[in-house]
Amino acid sequence: MYKMMTPGPSQVRENVLLARSKQFQNPDLDSDFVEYYHDTCKLYSSLLHTENESLILGGEGILGLEAACASLTEPGDRVLVLDNGVFGEGFKDFVSIYGGTPVLYTRDYSRPFDMDDLKNYLEKDHDFKYATVVHCDTPSGMLNDIASICTLLKSYSILTVVDSVAGMFGEDVRVDDWKIDLLCGGSQKAVSAPPGLTMVTISADAKAAMEGRKTPVASFYANLLTFKGYYEAKWFPYTMPVSDIYGLRTALENIKADPQMLERHAKVAAYTRKAVTAMGLKLYPESGYSNTVTTFQVPEGHTAEEILHAMRYEHNILLAGSFGCFAGKLIRIGHMGENAYMEKVQEVLDALQEVLKK
Ligand SMILES: *Cc1c(COP(=O)(O)O)cnc(C)c1O
Repeated sequence: MYKMMTPGPSQVRENVLLARSKQFQNPDLDSDFVEYYHDTCKLYSSLLHTENESLILGGEGILGLEAACASLTEPGDRVLVLDNGVFGEGFKDFVSIYGGTPVLYTRDYSRPFDMDDLKNYLEKDHDFKYATVVHCDTPSGMLNDIASICTLLKSYSILTVVDSVAGMFGEDVRVDDWKIDLLCGGSQKAVSAPPGLTMVTISADAKAAMEGRKTPVASFYANLLTFKGYYEAKWFPYTMPVSDIYGLRTALENIKADPQMLERHAKVAAYTRKAVTAMGLKLYPESGYSNTVTTFQVPEGHTAEEILHAMRYEHNILLAGSFGCFAGKLIRIGHMGENAYMEKVQEVLDALQEVLKK
């Protein structure tokens, strides 16, 4: 098996793999499982510094993004889509699928949003039900300042949907302090469990907006309201992927037991950026580097494909190219979660140096 140094899925610790292979409870009929699910959601919320309720949904990260938009959007709603990356722009599709009108605020893809520019924009137009923003836009490795963005939007009573699938636990996330209404996460990035689950954290304001809808949500699976009262009724809207949730719980306990996690990411990321630059490679973002992924431009005279192929078949290391407008142009080293250890990254850098020399 190759070493998976991609920006998701990331490597998974053995205790997580073992938890997933346990004999499992009946998630529909065993009320102990409802407690376990509820406790796991509470643990997740506490790690993100929030009193808000979190739900674990049976589906990969994309389901969380879609569920947030499906549950909030009513036909005709204006939604501000903050777009400075591939995932940032992608939100417009979820908004329009559910009948909303996405209004794109598109800015330079190589740097975080400029707060003064956003302030000026909002002064002129702030008639939005909610806004979408990506924390770490993984295809470019760019990090947005969601603390400033979400508090600013909240001052205009605009709800926020934040995609921190590839940010959380590698970068600080403080849901309550930063006034994030719907925070979307996934199991396979810095959480370091296999893909398959998404977690959505819901503020009281977001709940009120969903419950006050005039039209029903045009989905069942992506409707967050179907979970309403599940704990009291001991009834899930669909059979929960119990083994995935055992794995997630163990991964979250690993995070809880690792108070140095954010510092470790910062250190590994700074080291990786420095080493990549020292090799003569050019980082993609001009500023706003995420501590979960390092993105560099494919150097002249090479193709992404040949570098990735040599890394995989000569060094047994899987790196990622990019996609969307960055396809073929960028290469990405994922140093999130279990990947964020100096010795793992050093191995990648040594191999990369050799590949480039050849
Ligand atoms: C990984 C990721 C997701 C989940 O989507 P997939 O591409 O299906 O893995 C969502 N948002 C961001 C920013 C991600 O990095």
